[in-house]
Amino acid sequence: MTRTPDNILDSGGVLIVGAGLAGLFAALKLKEPVTLLSAASLGSGASSAWAQGGIAAALGADDSPELHARDTEAAGAGIVDPKIARLIASEAAARIDDLAHLGVPFDRDADDRFVLGREAAHSKHRIVRVTGDRAGAEIMAALVRAVKATPRIRVIEGLVAFELALEAGRVAGVYAHRIADKTSPVLVRADATIFALGGVGGLFEVTTNPPQARGQGLGMAARAGALTADPEFVQFHPTAIAVGRDPAPLATEALRGEGALLVNDSDERFMTAVHADAELAPRDVVARGIFRELRAGRKVFLDARAAIGATFPAAFPTVFAYCIAEGIDPRIDLIPVAPAAHYHMGGIAVDENARTSLPGLWAIGECASTGAHGANRLASNSLLEAVVFGARAAIDVADIQHRAARAVAPSTIADAPPSALAIATLRKTMTLNVGLERNADDLEAAIATIARLENAGAGDPDLRNMTATATLIATAALRRTESRGGHFRSDFPAADPEMAKRTFITLAEARRVTKGAARAKLPLRAVV
Ligand SMILES: Cc1cc2nc3c(=O)[nH]c(=O)nc-3n(C[C@H](O)[C@H](O)[C@H](O)COP(=O)(O)OP(=O)(O)OC[C@H]3O[C@@H](n4cnc5c(N)ncnc54)[C@H](O)[C@@H]3O)c2cc1C
Repeated sequence: MTRTPDNILDSGGVLIVGAGLAGLFAALKLKEPVTLLSAASLGSGASSAWAQGGIAAALGADDSPELHARDTEAAGAGIVDPKIARLIASEAAARIDDLAHLGVPFDRDADDRFVLGREAAHSKHRIVRVTGDRAGAEIMAALVRAVKATPRIRVIEGLVAFELALEAGRVAGVYAHRIADKTSPVLVRADATIFALGGVGGLFEVTTNPPQARGQGLGMAARAGALTADPEFVQFHPTAIAVGRDPAPLATEALRGEGALLVNDSDERFMTAVHADAELAPRDVVARGIFRELRAGRKVFLDARAAIGATFPAAFPTVFAYCIAEGIDPRIDLIPVAPAAHYHMGGIAVDENARTSLPGLWAIGECASTGAHGANRLASNSLLEAVVFGARAAIDVADIQHRAARAVAPSTIADAPPSALAIATLRKTMTLNVGLERNADDLEAAIATIARLENAGAGDPDLRNMTATATLIATAALRRTESRGGHFRSDFPAADPEMAKRTFITLAEARRVTKGAARAKLPLRAVV
C-alpha cells in the first residue's frame, strides 16, 4: 500500500540511524546538532552492549600499530585493505583515550596503565578490557550517560527505519515506523544520514546477535542502489552456549585462551585431529570442527573445569551468569556449545571517511564494509573500527549545509508485519544452505527460497530489507568459487589465488545472478 508519511520530522541537519557503539560515538564526536534514531531503547538492542572481549589497540611497550595492522591482514586471509588496516591500528590509541575521557572504566594496573589481554591471532597483548568480560556493557553504559547529558543530541527511540528517502538522487533521510504500528510512516528528513545499523546475525537461525541485527541497514542501502562489499563473508563464533535460547549467549574465546578444552560426548578432544593449534586454531577452523561433530550427531562441550574452575565467577562474570541461569555450573559442569552467526565482515561499501556510493549517506560500524576485516575479522577489531569510523564520519559530515525540508515522494508500507513463518524460513534457509559449509546446489536452493519469500511478502519493507541482504550474501557466496576466511565451499575447499580480492556488488547485479540460479534448477533442499 502506498502512503504519504503522516509525519515529517526535520533532523536539523545530521541524522544517525542506529545507537550502538558506532552511532553513539559518532553523535558525541559531532559538533553540530544531531538526531539519533534507535529502534530499541538507548543502550539495548545493540551487539555493542554484548561484547565480552574488548577493544584491540597497540598500547603495549612491545607493540606497534604496524604489528597490529599485520595481524589484521593475516587474519583477513589475503583481502584486507592494507591502508585501512593501518588506519584503524594507528588511530586506536586516540580513540581509546576518547572513550576513557567519556568515562569508560577500562581495567588498569597499579601504575594506571591499561591491562592488556591477548586473543587468538594477535601476536601481542593488546585487548583493552573492562571488568573482565564486561567491555561492551560498560562502554555502552558510559556512552549512553554521555549522550543523555549532551543537549545537542536529540534521541528518538522506538522508530524502526525501513527505507531511505531520496531527493533527486541524494539521500534525504529515512522513512520509519513505530515498532507496534506499521501503518503510519514517519519521514525523518536529513541533509546527512549516517547509518550505524549493526550486523546480520539475526538472518541466521542460530546467532549471538540481538534480534534487531537482521541486515536492515545493508538491505535499505542496497535497495536504494548503494554499492556493497564482501557480503559473503560472515563470521561464525565457534562457542555459543547451546541451550536453545535465541539469541544464543556467547562463551567468549578468552575461555579457550585460558585453557578450556573442547570435547565431544565421548569425551574426545576432537580439535587436536583438526589443527595443530587445536582449540586455539583460527575461529573459522574451530567453528567448522564443532559443526562437523554436531552434523555427525555428536554433542560438543567446553570443559573449563580444570583450566578455570573456581576462578570462573570472578574471571568471566557474564558467561558465569548465563550458565547459572540455565542450571549449568561451569566450575563443575561441561558447557554445551555450538557455532552461531556472529559478525559480518561485509556491508555497505565505504571509503576512508565512511562515505557510501550514495550522496548524502555515510555508514559506520558493522553495517559498513571498510576493508579492515577482509575474509575474517581479527578478534576485538570491530569495536575499534566502530569508533575509528564513527569519528571519521563525524568530521566528514561537519561541513554540510542545512537545507529547508522539502516535500518528498510517498513511501510504500505494508499494513501487516512480516509473517513469523517467513522470517523463520529465511533464518533456517540461511543456516542450512548459506552457513558454515556452502556448496553450489545449496546456495542456488537458498537463492530460490529467498526470492520466493520476497515475492510472497513483497508488501513488507522490513522483510524486503532482510531478503535483499540475504540475496547479497547468498549470491556473492555462489560467485566466490573458492574457500577463504569465513567463507567455506565444500565443492571448492581450497583458496584460489585468482580470487584474492574483495567483492563489490550491487543488489541489481545480485538479482541478475538470482534469476540465473532460479532458471538453472529447482531448489534441491528448499526448507519449505
Ligand atoms: C555477543 C557478542 C560479543 C562480541 N564481542 C566483541 C568484542 O569483544 N570485541 C569486538 O571488537 N567486537 C565484538 N563483537 C562485535 C561487536 O560487538 C559489533 O561488531 C559492534 O558492536 C557493532 O556495533 P554497531 O554500532 O555497528 O552495531 P550495534 O551495536 O549492533 O548497534 C546497532 C543499532 O542499530 C539499531 N537498529 C537496527 N536496526 C534498526 C532499524 N531498522 N531502525 C532503527 N534502528 C535500528 C539497533 O537497535 C542498535 O541500536 C561482539 C558481538 C556480539 C554479538
